[in-house]
Amino acid sequence: MKEIICLNCNKSFGLYNEKYYSRKSLEKIANQYCALHKFYGHEIIIRNPQM
Ligand SMILES: [Zn+2]
Repeated sequence: MKEIICLNCNKSFGLYNEKYYSRKSLEKIANQYCALHKFYGHEIIIRNPQM
């Protein structure tokens, strides 16, 4: 699983199974969901979820 997260807000944008989501589509999702965060200069990363 991969997690899309804003480092500045520590906000998660959900968990995604790599089986169904390629790296490219994850980046696409991140760009859509996190547009406002990026606008404010926040750092959006795709990482392994931390339990
Ligand atoms: Zn943010």
